[in-house]
Amino acid sequence: MELKIELRKDLKEKPDMSNLGFGNYYTDHMFVMDYTDGIGWHDARIVPNEPFMMNPACMVLHYGQTTFEGLKAYKGKNGQIRLFRPEKNMERLNRSNDRVCIPQFDGPFVVEAIKKLVKIEEEWIPTEPGTSLYIRPFVIAMDNHVGVHPSHTYRFFVILSPVGSYYAEGINPVKIYVEDTYCRAVRGGLGFAKTAANYAASLKAQEVAAERGYTQVLWLDGIEKKYIEEVGTMNVMFVINGEVITPEINGSILEGITRMSSIELLRKAGYKVTERKISIQEVVDAAKNGTLNEAFGTGTAAVISPIGELYFEGESIVVNNGEIGPVSHTIYDTITGIQSGEKEDEMGWVTIVE
Ligand SMILES: *Cc1c(COP(=O)(O)O)cnc(C)c1O
Repeated sequence: MELKIELRKDLKEKPDMSNLGFGNYYTDHMFVMDYTDGIGWHDARIVPNEPFMMNPACMVLHYGQTTFEGLKAYKGKNGQIRLFRPEKNMERLNRSNDRVCIPQFDGPFVVEAIKKLVKIEEEWIPTEPGTSLYIRPFVIAMDNHVGVHPSHTYRFFVILSPVGSYYAEGINPVKIYVEDTYCRAVRGGLGFAKTAANYAASLKAQEVAAERGYTQVLWLDGIEKKYIEEVGTMNVMFVINGEVITPEINGSILEGITRMSSIELLRKAGYKVTERKISIQEVVDAAKNGTLNEAFGTGTAAVISPIGELYFEGESIVVNNGEIGPVSHTIYDTITGIQSGEKEDEMGWVTIVE
């Protein structure tokens, strides 16, 4: 497929790159392509990022038939633009699409389009340590029709947002609320897909946790409320007696690329990493008998987020004295080092944008 490029003449003013926050600013251009039944994906283009018209009957607004991804472009030390495992995001987007009946697309083609778009927006990539250009691919159903069935037309977008360091004042362990009333996803549902409904389902518990002074929610399985699933928009890992344990991929948790990368790197560094069911009780018991060494979340936004406290059934459990532990620290340094180019990319995970 051909990729048309239409650049805007009136470039936007760049924001203060030292005070970006997350998701507040968007670059001048975006990638768009359309899908029509019988034709397939067509009209791939890089165009000015501008508001567009939608019919109020547009299906995505009513039934949430939509998927998304999140990855980052980094400006390496020598000025190289680096992407971290973008092909994995495209594979996952196609798995998410399959779950909500959105047609498959050509992953390598979109990776190439993202590289072109990022190159065009090179000046938007912040350079301070920890900052990056966040890349948000997403797909929406476009039929104008009130009635529940898969749409016959779709639109694929990629927008870009310069984002600040997640840790302005160093890595601070977060306080986590173990949610025992609401659930985010169930097996057979949408949990493994990056689709809007999962995040709508999470908001209420997030709000309750925030009111009580907790940063994130730790989800338990939707059936028995016993086994640990994941944290907010991160997967979760526990270090118990030196062994790293993380919930197995079971259909209701999101298969994180940071999770996958952390498992590979930890095993390479000689850690025992086990993917299995782990109950909240096991973690509480380990904390009480002193064998819970560390707990942390993994995800593109923060890379690694150490957990300093867990609130469960009226009790507050402190993890590793509320401090960042050695496993969290090592994996954070290794992944961010590979992303920025300060560490050698032995795994061949980085795509250089030229
Ligand atoms: C995106 C996401 C993650 C983390 O995935 P990464 O590929 O590591 O960024 C974890 N859980 C949920 C619910 C997510 O949406």
